[in-house]
Amino acid sequence: MFTPRFLRTGLLAAATACVFVSGAASAGPAEVKTNPPGFYRVMVGDIEVTALNDGTTNLPADKLLSDAKPADLKKALDRAYLSTPIETSFNGFLVNTGSKLVLIDTGAGHFFGPTLGNLANSLKAAGYQPEQVDEIYITHFHSDHIGGLLDGDKAAFPNAVVRADKRESDFWLSKENMEKAPEDRKDSFTHAQAALKPYIDAGHFKPIEADGELVPGVLSHATVGHTPGHTSYIVESKGQKLMVWGDLIHVAAYQFGHPEAKMMFDSDSKAGLAERKKEYAAAAKDGYLVAGAHISFPGIGHVRTDGKGYDWVPVNFSVVH
Ligand SMILES: [Zn+2]
Repeated sequence: MFTPRFLRTGLLAAATACVFVSGAASAGPAEVKTNPPGFYRVMVGDIEVTALNDGTTNLPADKLLSDAKPADLKKALDRAYLSTPIETSFNGFLVNTGSKLVLIDTGAGHFFGPTLGNLANSLKAAGYQPEQVDEIYITHFHSDHIGGLLDGDKAAFPNAVVRADKRESDFWLSKENMEKAPEDRKDSFTHAQAALKPYIDAGHFKPIEADGELVPGVLSHATVGHTPGHTSYIVESKGQKLMVWGDLIHVAAYQFGHPEAKMMFDSDSKAGLAERKKEYAAAAKDGYLVAGAHISFPGIGHVRTDGKGYDWVPVNFSVVH
């Protein structure tokens, strides 16, 4: 797979080549091959929600969905014109309530390689600056959601207060838990501790102790299971609602049709499964918008019932709201 760095370099090379060959009758248009920084806006009542793409990376669906039967997985992926590993979006969501600018998740920063870490560019392309962000709500402390908190070893969002469920911060910021963790999981702890450090040092980290309104129009809603304090966030205005799910889904092409599927990275498999089933059903029943961190960008849409499972309906494209 081509990396963004490769593509940027390739793009420059192509542009340069174009200059030198201009006038040559055989030269066709240079292939661009890449997409610009990604942002996409929807309105939820009076509140503006902007999906910000951090990039993509290839995820091995067969390993993530540890109990999926290979034939079932292949069938679902074939139906979606996909194959594993799946190029998967990593999305954050910027919420402008009119009085507060809130960022939900920050992308992977430098923790996941060169195809990710573009959230700050997407935020700027969307017309905002990191200094304007008042609050950051983290769904959970896996590296791909908190890496973007850092710019080098400094706070990428110097004026923001970071909030996350207290169970999440208690778990990942504990040196004792880190020492007990298997070797291949220790990175998650060191990443979380590094990413939160400048905010904790500045007195800018404030754990969430219970579900409720954080700023007018934005509420926390614990969906524990994927991690000990995994939290979704609800945006509500004028009777409209959008729920930022976080990691309640990773492989949309399979999991909506198979809500019973186990997810390898769930810290509590049973609780993770129960939350997914509950939230998929609630979204389909009530018809509100859902925003997923790993649903194909912009990752905003509706859930509808489909046989024994569910189906995803991406939001209709709109330029005027
Ligand atoms: Zn994730």
